[in-house]
Amino acid sequence: MIRQNLHTHTVYDDGANTPMEMAIAAADAGLTSLGFSGHSVLPYENDWAMTERSRVEWLAKVRETKSAMSGRLEVFAGLEWDLLSAPPEGCDYVIGSIHHLGPAAPHLTVDESPEVTLRAIDEVFGGDRDSLAEAWFAQYEALARCGFVDIVGHLDLLTKFDERPGIFDAGSRRFREAAMEALELLCRADKIFEVNTGAIARGRRSVPYPSAELLRELKAREARVLVTSDAHSADTVACAFPRAEALLRETGFREIWELTGRGFVPVPI
Ligand SMILES: [Zn+2]
Ligand SMILES: [Zn+2]
Repeated sequence: MIRQNLHTHTVYDDGANTPMEMAIAAADAGLTSLGFSGHSVLPYENDWAMTERSRVEWLAKVRETKSAMSGRLEVFAGLEWDLLSAPPEGCDYVIGSIHHLGPAAPHLTVDESPEVTLRAIDEVFGGDRDSLAEAWFAQYEALARCGFVDIVGHLDLLTKFDERPGIFDAGSRRFREAAMEALELLCRADKIFEVNTGAIARGRRSVPYPSAELLRELKAREARVLVTSDAHSADTVACAFPRAEALLRETGFREIWELTGRGFVPVPI
């Protein structure tokens, strides 16, 4: 059973609940530990990341929650660090995530809506969806070089809308080559890969990121994985964890990694 979720958002970024509400829901759902991973501060105006000010308030509330839940739930203060943000400081762990489309459209995100992605393919990538996919995966080279990144967030987030309406062709040669190159670099950097059920909670997908195909490639390279729900509300704090666990078993995994006070340790699934 999966007992930890290290990827959660709160009212201090684009989540719906307070750290305390999230922690109580996690304990009620049977989790034994929870990590808070607000979106790192971004260098442009937006409505989803923390600001310098909300980050300070967030950290104080996470610490309050940690002491209030002591003995019931272990609490960590992490960060979902975006490649566009300044290097993180003082975190228990860092999830390195890519949301933006890369240098050609640095402030557009791939997970906002199908319309935004489709428009970007047309207007920025000359109508070539593989070209956007290549630009997406190329950014992982920089992420792999970041020694402070422990966990790679939602590796193939760009497929968020691929069940419907359907945008990318993950089977195309160029998509696959770009994805595999990123995966190799990240494996060589010994990152932990997140199996993320967030799009299931939001009704966008029936399966987690990364795809079963990428998970098999990760297994073949003995990569480390863990499961998160990228929760933006208390009721999704352990969303679809049994489904993620079943997918991991189907793709050959027999253990996941958990953060403890002594660092990451493997636990059987
Ligand atoms: Zn994210
Ligand atoms: Zn997130």
